[in-house]
Amino acid sequence: MTMEKPLEALRRRARQLAEKRPGYGELLAFYVNVRQAQMASRASVRIDPAALEKRLRDRPAQADVALLGKADFPVDVAASRELFHALCRIGRTANPHLALQAEKADAYFKAHPDELKPCLTGATDAQASAQAAADPGLAPQVLAFLIRNSTRPSLEASSAKLSTAIDLETWRQCHCPVCGGPPGLNLLRGEGGKRYSLCSNCGCQWRIDRLSCAICGNREQGQLNYFHAEGEAACRIDLCDRCHHYVKTIDERILETCDPELEDLATPHLDLLAAERGFTRAAPNPWTGGR
Ligand SMILES: [Zn+2]
Ligand SMILES: [Zn+2]
Repeated sequence: MTMEKPLEALRRRARQLAEKRPGYGELLAFYVNVRQAQMASRASVRIDPAALEKRLRDRPAQADVALLGKADFPVDVAASRELFHALCRIGRTANPHLALQAEKADAYFKAHPDELKPCLTGATDAQASAQAAADPGLAPQVLAFLIRNSTRPSLEASSAKLSTAIDLETWRQCHCPVCGGPPGLNLLRGEGGKRYSLCSNCGCQWRIDRLSCAICGNREQGQLNYFHAEGEAACRIDLCDRCHHYVKTIDERILETCDPELEDLATPHLDLLAAERGFTRAAPNPWTGGR
């Protein structure tokens, strides 16, 4: 048996999901193209080891406090900039709204490269981010999407390095040990179904207790519920009656290949069902307009 490469496996799974739900085909294909560009970029990302060491030296003393804030992440600006423009090119093949926005972003930031850098390094506050989008006439959420996805390989590379200083099996908190972000998804894995949270910002995965709310830590079994949708064995929604959040859980054990974000993207109907019941998602899904 030959080993399937990650990108081939991702494409195959995206096709499988699109056959099941043709309405999502375009979005899933777009996602795969973005992931492909991110995988290529990840190989070229260089994070200054001194920057990472400094972050570890300056780490907070308390055991349950995350290593660094989102704005403190060392980012490979050159690689992120290149990826930003690659994503603009991919965006130009997407739906007409995004295609127009991507074209504007591509042209504007090629002409004003200095304005992109503070966005990529997380140095912008909310007001500066709004201005960065207003100048080229971009929807703020489109610019945020492009920035998020073009810095993601840097964040993942930094997080992977930094998380080696943490015992991810015993962390068991409701926030990411590296960046403090909320869980975007939960994962079930291995014999007996060990449960992990996946950080929505940096991609770090840490173990959490099976019978607790991943968002508020609630352990009252009477307040914790979940539901499956028909035909969605790999995906379920965990609900907490205390904090009224929900988290989508992907069961990796029954998937041949698992890209949690792809599975998430292919199941927005589960988010709708959770929202109808009055639950909200702690970490919005940036691909589906923040639900
Ligand atoms: Zn994180
Ligand atoms: Zn809760």
